[in-house]
Amino acid sequence: MPNTEKTKENPKQSSPLMIEDDYTPVMYDPQYILMVNKLKKYFPIKGGMVSKTVGYVRAVDGITFNLKRGTTMGLVGESGCGKTTAGRTILRLSGGKTGGQVLFNGQEIYDLSHKELRALRTKMQIIFQDPSASLDPRMTVGDIIAEGMEIHKMYDKEKRTQRVYELLETVGLNREHANRFPHEFSGGQRQRIGIARALAVEPEFIVCDEPISALDVSIQSQIINLLKDLQEKNGFTYMFIAHDLNIVKYISDRIAVMYLGNLVELADSDEIYAHTLHPYSQALLASVPIPDPDKEAQKEASVLSGDVPSPINPKPGCPFANRCKYATEKCHKESPKLREARPGHFVSCHLDME
Ligand code: SF4
Repeated sequence: MPNTEKTKENPKQSSPLMIEDDYTPVMYDPQYILMVNKLKKYFPIKGGMVSKTVGYVRAVDGITFNLKRGTTMGLVGESGCGKTTAGRTILRLSGGKTGGQVLFNGQEIYDLSHKELRALRTKMQIIFQDPSASLDPRMTVGDIIAEGMEIHKMYDKEKRTQRVYELLETVGLNREHANRFPHEFSGGQRQRIGIARALAVEPEFIVCDEPISALDVSIQSQIINLLKDLQEKNGFTYMFIAHDLNIVKYISDRIAVMYLGNLVELADSDEIYAHTLHPYSQALLASVPIPDPDKEAQKEASVLSGDVPSPINPKPGCPFANRCKYATEKCHKESPKLREARPGHFVSCHLDME
């Protein structure tokens, strides 16, 4: 684990090289399949003749949320906000964490040995953004879907073949497709194959990492409906990563908005759309086009202006301050904490809004 360091130094004296792992451990609550507590993932930046660490890309900077079984949490934000890194860090797919806790069914996944982690992999799966890139072009579809079952020694060969056929039918393909190669399929069909591969090992929790953004609009809703149907039948829990608030609204029970490695708003889906509190969430919503051209023309200009600041050694204060039309002097000095502004609705902003 490359860069886990603990320190008790005063945060006010923090330097770009200091990592504060200052979380208070949480107790397991069985209603949650996943509990994420102040999770951090930093990537070191090397420089100089001896390749010293000169700073960090703070891709995930202390996010906290809990996910109930059988529900979906949408994780939304612009490109580069850290949402994909968050998903991969939660699954322990990107080396070590930098700080915080990830409890899956009460078990800290970063405490597991490689053997234990391997066993747990069947329960935690990921569906990737680009179905073309995530499927090995030299393998048949049947072998791709069966691979996870083989690795985890699930079933005998005959049962695995039978299961491949069942899974193909579950995702709307058919058994004849098992002998074909990924390039023979459309983008939507390839994503269905990716979903079948994830389901093969009987997971409980699936990170869907922008699973529809590489697909035509006409296909997107088919994949979303398929994921929803599968959830109803099998009780899956999803973390659905996306940049499109419209899609997230349709599939999510709860929504978390992420900006520059931080969660800035977290609430139930209906609540966050009815009472959008954080200026960044408001800007994301304002940027969703309205199909009516007259209404679109009348729409208030998006509040998003300025550049996304660098996640390398960020300045103190609110990470959104350089783009926020409400920013005050306090915003440039003090980082707002995530607080409960309405029942079950958390926001990280100094503004007193309801
Ligand atoms: Fe804007 Fe200040 Fe709120 Fe940050 S804390 S979102 S800068 S008003």
